[in-house]
Amino acid sequence: MTNVTSDTPVALVSGASRGIGAEIARTLAAKGFDIVIVYYTTEPVPTDVKEECEKLRPGTKVIMIPADVSLEEDCKRVVNLTKDTFGRVDVLVNNAGITRDGLAMRMSVDQFTSVINTNLTSAFILSSLCLAIMARQKHGRIINMSSVSGVYGNPGQANYSASKAGLIGLTKSLAKEMGSRNITVNAIAPGFIETPMTASLSEEVKKAAIGRIALGRFGQPKDVAAIIAFLASDDAAYITGQVIEVSGGLTL
Ligand code: NAD
Repeated sequence: MTNVTSDTPVALVSGASRGIGAEIARTLAAKGFDIVIVYYTTEPVPTDVKEECEKLRPGTKVIMIPADVSLEEDCKRVVNLTKDTFGRVDVLVNNAGITRDGLAMRMSVDQFTSVINTNLTSAFILSSLCLAIMARQKHGRIINMSSVSGVYGNPGQANYSASKAGLIGLTKSLAKEMGSRNITVNAIAPGFIETPMTASLSEEVKKAAIGRIALGRFGQPKDVAAIIAFLASDDAAYITGQVIEVSGGLTL
């Protein structure tokens, strides 16, 4: 592995092999970032996402790191490899997430904790590791992928909602803790976005959801990636500790 400290800012995106995360990687590459694609160990190597990032802005450096972000040792490996390769990390997007839905009265403890560990504990571990680098740089952006379920709750998603609400508390505390070091921390709360995660919803559930969305349709990954690109940009330097909803008016 080469040890380059370059002038190009670096964005580390978890769960970037598909869906919203892949679109965030592409969008940030186009905006001038070198990219660290963190993909789940069980998934195919996302060479397509890497090549798309490189095509969008020739010269973009992209590395792919397989990891289970719910494991501390994997997160350490990810951040060490990023440091060894690029010598910096400017933006961390904690995007990796899972659902394991079910009614709370029938939900196993494993069903609860696996979602908490993947969605919330992972964000704490990666943030904590990256903050040490960002604090030295006196610059950094952390963006956590929450959900409207974390703001308003959702039946059948006690585990998921708790993890996404936890991300909001993490966001606000880190924003207060790290503001004096010029590090901003924000959260995004998407509604229904067309990805593999929502593809498994039944037609009936999708129809009912669309009926509640002011814009009358599901969002696209690019709708979420656009706000991430803004929060990662210099224009967002004075925004921290916020939860920005991207839901087409679902919760109005
Ligand atoms: P997705 O299932 O397509 O993508 C999730 C990504 O996370 C995948 O790349 C997956 O491999 C990765 N991942 C899962 N567990 C992991 C682990 N242990 N280690 C490393 N990577 C892991 O879903 P998506 O819709 O693109 O979701 C992205 C994020 O947005 C998630 O946090 C999700 O909760 C959130 N979100 C999605 C929606 C939606 O409607 N799609 C709405 C609100 C919030």
